Order: sequence, then structure tokens, then C-alpha cells
Amino acid sequence: NVTFLPSEEGSGKGAALITAIDKYLYSMRFSDETLLDIMHRFRRELAKGLGRDTNPTAALKMLPTFVRSIPDGSEKGDFIALDLGGSNFRILRVRVSHEKKQTVQMESQIYDTPEDIIHGSGTRLFDHVAECLGDFMEKHSIKDKKLPVGFTFSFPCQQTKLDEGYLITWTKRFKASGVEGMDVVKLLNKAIKKRGDYNADIMAVVNDTVGTMMTCGFDDQRCEVGIIIGTGTNACYMEELRHIDLVEGDEGRMCVNTEWGAFGDDGRLEDIRTEFDREIDRGSLNPGKQLFEKMVSGMYMGELVRLILVKMAREGLLFEGRITPELLTKGKFETKHVSAIEKSKEGLSKAKEILTRLGVEPSADDCIAVQHVCTIVSFRSANLIAATLAGILTRLKENKGVSRLRTTVGIDGSLYKMHPQYARRLHKTVRRLVPDSDVRFLLSESGSGKGAAMVTAVAYRLADQSRQ
Ligand code: BGC
Ligand code: MG
Repeated sequence: NVTFLPSEEGSGKGAALITAIDKYLYSMRFSDETLLDIMHRFRRELAKGLGRDTNPTAALKMLPTFVRSIPDGSEKGDFIALDLGGSNFRILRVRVSHEKKQTVQMESQIYDTPEDIIHGSGTRLFDHVAECLGDFMEKHSIKDKKLPVGFTFSFPCQQTKLDEGYLITWTKRFKASGVEGMDVVKLLNKAIKKRGDYNADIMAVVNDTVGTMMTCGFDDQRCEVGIIIGTGTNACYMEELRHIDLVEGDEGRMCVNTEWGAFGDDGRLEDIRTEFDREIDRGSLNPGKQLFEKMVSGMYMGELVRLILVKMAREGLLFEGRITPELLTKGKFETKHVSAIEKSKEGLSKAKEILTRLGVEPSADDCIAVQHVCTIVSFRSANLIAATLAGILTRLKENKGVSRLRTTVGIDGSLYKMHPQYARRLHKTVRRLVPDSDVRFLLSESGSGKGAAMVTAVAYRLADQSRQ
């Protein structure tokens, strides 16, 4: 009962080699039985995070988002969205209008976030964001307007209302000082005020998963889950309010940000973590944290492959034992290389190119071997995400009390979008793990940022209604 067959990845003269690597990386390949076990563990963690007494010690923070409904199609207006914390810092202008049917128009610009800024002081980081926003408004000749702004901030935040978000901890590449424990809306407002050359009305702070769900919800009213598989990973979904102990009220639903990247931070995944996962964690900006994220997301995948290649070369299993300074350099093998090497047609020639640049003089067999290592690492990622997503889906199914779940999952993120096989493998495994379901996967282009505008639009509509 293996989760993939060598035949899928090509058989013939490489078959023996592939079998040998399958054995070597045995602990990274999961049977469906193991995946179902991980799904059940994840479900228990979800419940733990939702309970009042168990939440403080739960690995999954299950953060209330104060988003209670997806767009209903009557929203309109002109909005700005900031999208900070993904692979790019992006500013968007989103116009929602009604002519016959609701249409969304979007223009956006990417701004640099140099390392000295994301690792410097928080004040400098927010000054930079405010400066880019000023530049964007200048270019769009809207500096004299006070447009509503939605702020996608892709980190765990404690919220008690929509337009407030206390950063719990930085993740991924970010580590600016003096921001943890602070309300990022206040920090941004302060930076904008200090400049004094424009006004902005920050209406909502939104996690990128929530933005993704809202963007997809615009096209498909059934969307009730949002997932990111990019630099980092995370998911949100619509939970029954009566199950969210931390928020008053029993009626209706609220979107909960699971922060599933932290799954395993309490030791629950120790049996499936490998020596490579531990090494990645030791060398990271946040040791001991985001352990699930480090096994699956784009920020770490290339590096995981590199660590495996180094070990195999040391043992004489690759490159006739050649080890070069490039191969030993952290970050030299990137996730985008994994994606290139797994392309079905040019994959092997890409492998040759990439490995040659690392100076290891690869043979044809080396290229086949490295391609298969990439497959195992990226397949493990898709399988783990399938297991946790299956946990959310079975929970939704129970919440609704239906025998067959029909739902839509909105997804965004660079790994999911760029990797040639990832999406197909993920969908297939989820459907196997949750057989009584019809799950539609909806890719959400720029969903994380656009969604902040959608949240803002919904908030605007609701505020408007309550004024009338
Ligand atoms: C963050 C999440 C975010 C995810 C995807 C994680 O590191 O903790 O808040 O949604 O990355 O960007
Ligand atoms: Mg993003």
C-alpha cells in the first residue's frame, strides 16, 4: 500500500536505481494508513485549539478571524490591498463594480523587501511599507483620496476585531524587532501618520489563507476553506461559532485561521520527522517552531533535497562521492529547482544543468537519482497537506451532519502553482482519504491580496447596511 508507484515516474533502465532510493528514503514515504493516522492526530489538535481550557497549550492556535461571511455578490467600491509576508510584497488596487454582473478589476505592483528591512527594526519595516503605499498612491493619482485599505499580513495574529491584529510570532523569513506582541494595524497607521502626505483607512487585517478563501468565495459560494502552499503553509476554514470557545455567540459560523504550520510543535510528529527535518529546524530562524511547515513548504523544500544529496554523496551513492563547496552551501539548491527537475519532459536535462552548476559532474544515473529524490520530498509534502486538509474536510462534514460533503477549497501559493505535479498529487490523495466527498479545488490567482480587498468590501457593505 504505497502512495505512489515507480511506474508513474518512469520505469525501465532506471527502475533498479529508483527502488534503491525508495529504500534509502523509506521514512519519507507514507502509506495511506499512516496518512489517515496523521489526519486523525490533526483532527484532535483542531479540537484542542478550539477549546477554551486546552487552547493555551495547543500547538494549533485556531485563531478567530472575525470574518463571518463570504462575499454575497453585492459588494462594490474602490479598495487598496497590501499583501505582506508571502514570496512578494505586493500592493493592489481592486475595483469592484456592478454592470449587469459584479466584476473585479485589479492592478498591482510588487515592491522589494530587502533582507536588512525584514531583519531590522519594526519601525523601519513599517516605514518602508508606508513609503511603498505612498509611492503606489502617487502613481495611481489617488493620494488625495482616503480609500479603504485591506491589509493581508501572512503571520499568526491574535484578533478581537477585524481591524486589529497582534502579531504572535514571526515565521518564515521575517524577524523584525519590536513587532511581536504589537498590533500591526496601529504600527502601520503610525508610520502613515508620521509621513503626513496621505491618509488611509485600514479596515481589516487578514491572513493570506482568509484572503484566498474570500477571493474564491467570490466565484464560488461553496468555498469554505482557504489554503496556502508557498513560502509557508497554512489553512483556514468556516467553523461553527458554537464550537469556538474563545468567541461569544452560538449562531452562525466564523472563519478560523488554524496556523497548521505549527502542527507538531508539541512533539506530535516526532515519529515521522527525519534527521533532515531536524537539521533544517536547527539551522532556521525559529528553531522548534513551525515544524509541519518545515516539512512541507517552499521555503525549506529545496534545502531538504540538498541535505539528502549531501548525505548520499558522502556515502558514495551519488556523484561518485564528489562533494563541492557549492553543494555544501545552504540555499544553493532551491525549491524552484525541485519544480524544474520534476518536469516530465525536460526534467532530466534540467537536473543535469542544475547539478553541473553545483560542480558535481553528474552522470545520467545521478540525474535520474536526484529526480527521484525530488519526487519523494515533494510527494511527501503533498501527502502531508492532503492528510491535514482531509482532517479539516472530515470536520466540516461532521459539522454539517451530511453523509457526503460537497465543498470548494481555495488555494494559492508559489509551490502549489509552480510545481508541475504537486496539485494533481494533492487532489488525488485528498479524494482517496475523504472518499465521501466532492471537493472542488479552486486556484486563486493573487488571492491572498485580492481577498483582503474582498474582506474590506464585505466590511464596507455591512457597515453601510447598519448605517441605513
Ligand atoms: C504563517 C501563516 C501564513 C502561512 C502562509 C505561515 O508561516 O504563520 O500565517 O498563512 O505562512 O503564508
Ligand atoms: Mg501570499
